[in-house]
Amino acid sequence: MTSFDLRKAKLRPGEELREALDVELPAFEFAGQRYVPVPETIEAALTVTRAVTGTVFTLDFSVRLHGPCYRCLGDAVLEIPIRAREYQASSPDDDELRTPYLVENRLEVSAWARDAVALALPDKILCRPDCAGLCPECGKNLNDEPHTHEETTVDPRWAALEALRKDD
Ligand SMILES: [Zn+2]
Ligand SMILES: [Zn+2]
Repeated sequence: MTSFDLRKAKLRPGEELREALDVELPAFEFAGQRYVPVPETIEAALTVTRAVTGTVFTLDFSVRLHGPCYRCLGDAVLEIPIRAREYQASSPDDDELRTPYLVENRLEVSAWARDAVALALPDKILCRPDCAGLCPECGKNLNDEPHTHEETTVDPRWAALEALRKDD
């Protein structure tokens, strides 16, 4: 997993560092399905801005996820642009003012990127917005084979004739 050593940056207040990072992204579990980033290593732009009161971190990248469509289980591809932001106060007495991704001067970039993607996922991952899904009767993919099923109940008039015939 990717992390970034902040001691290398040696920033003074007012200074900013921009770094291009290759970030390893783990696969995602979502609604019981597995979504894989393709490629698994994404290129991200990390910006570290040092102020007197604290440090601001921003991470920009775009991720492409592959996995099953929520409705038809066909392949769905999702492209998500991410801009994440974290803050760490210089004297972090307050837990609100510290980022959970900074551990002993190392910024846990993979964990941060993964959480940012998880927050940006839509409610339902679909192969296309108007995916017709699977037929509830026979399970066939309604995108490939649009169809409906005939009502199986017999017309009552025919049922009456049927009954007459049996009486003969
Ligand atoms: Zn679908
Ligand atoms: Zn059907």
